[in-house]
Amino acid sequence: MTCTDFLARLTDYFDGTVPSGLVAEVQKHISECKHCEVVLDSTTKTINIYRNQEMYDFTPELEERLHSAIMTRCYGAEKQTAK
Ligand SMILES: [Zn+2]
Repeated sequence: MTCTDFLARLTDYFDGTVPSGLVAEVQKHISECKHCEVVLDSTTKTINIYRNQEMYDFTPELEERLHSAIMTRCYGAEKQTAK
């Protein structure tokens, strides 16, 4: 699993809709990739805040911010692609 694959599964992971086989892959990637581990950790905290406020929703804006964060951390600014 690459960082891109991880990101593609991230929202499903939080929604609990990732098939069990893929959950193992997601967790394996997190254990191997410090960048995604940090992103997941901060995302978890963010979502917990949203949930506490009963505002939880994976908005496109949030996804975009997560995407940018992971791409920046994992691949560096030079690999960032314009939308
Ligand atoms: Zn990664």
